[in-house]
Amino acid sequence: MGGTKISITLCVLGSGSKGNAIYLRSGQTSLLIDAGLSMQQLGRRLAEIGVRLSEIDAILLTHEHRDHLAGIKVLHKHYPLPLYLNQATRQAAGDLLPEQSRWEIFNNGERFRVGDLTVEAFSISHDTVDPVGYVIHNGTHKVAIATDLGYVTNLVREKLKAADLLVLESNHDLEMLKNCPYPWPLKQRVWGRQGHLSNAESASLLRELCHPKLQHVVLAHLSETNNQESLVRNVVQRVLTDCASHEVVYSIASQDRIGQRIHLV
Ligand SMILES: [Zn+2]
Ligand SMILES: [Zn+2]
Repeated sequence: MGGTKISITLCVLGSGSKGNAIYLRSGQTSLLIDAGLSMQQLGRRLAEIGVRLSEIDAILLTHEHRDHLAGIKVLHKHYPLPLYLNQATRQAAGDLLPEQSRWEIFNNGERFRVGDLTVEAFSISHDTVDPVGYVIHNGTHKVAIATDLGYVTNLVREKLKAADLLVLESNHDLEMLKNCPYPWPLKQRVWGRQGHLSNAESASLLRELCHPKLQHVVLAHLSETNNQESLVRNVVQRVLTDCASHEVVYSIASQDRIGQRIHLV
């Protein structure tokens, strides 16, 4: 027993305001975190990494915004998977979710098992009723996921610490956001404390989170209007070169195609 290492695989299937979903597998357990893409897109994108929809065991939901759960109702008709979410999110999502389902309601901050994995949801600041990020352990690795957050609280800092694999929002470049054609209230929403994390905020958090076990960082939920991959690369590369004593691989999740298939052994 002791010392047996269990691998973990993660692939961001899509990330951004048009639809989010992350595939994660460890041991005999396969999960989706959010299902904001259509069932057809989910199926296609999973097929690219050799996975079938029928292999998914459960879905964890972060919050009730459409880009995180738009695919669930149709998916549920074909694959009635257990849905993990908190009660407030379930209520707020209303008919975006199926009427009947195997609800697995959790309290934020409580650890629960999903197959071979231990999962904990933690509160984040975003303009929905009770949004969460996730920490997922398989006994060997810790994966932490935080997208759709307006600012970094101490709780977020605490929960993202010591992860081997980090999926972190890097939504916008502040200058691009300031100068973009969005109406003023929308700009305020995005950069507000319940909006989205900027490249600079994400980089400064990353600087704090650098530690010897960190292997891979995925920068996610990039704005199509107010960000560019090259800007994210510039910032992240600088941070990782400065602060890591070892090589930390990073990748950038996209809206239109699957991201890198990450496999930690
Ligand atoms: Zn979102
Ligand atoms: Zn959102």
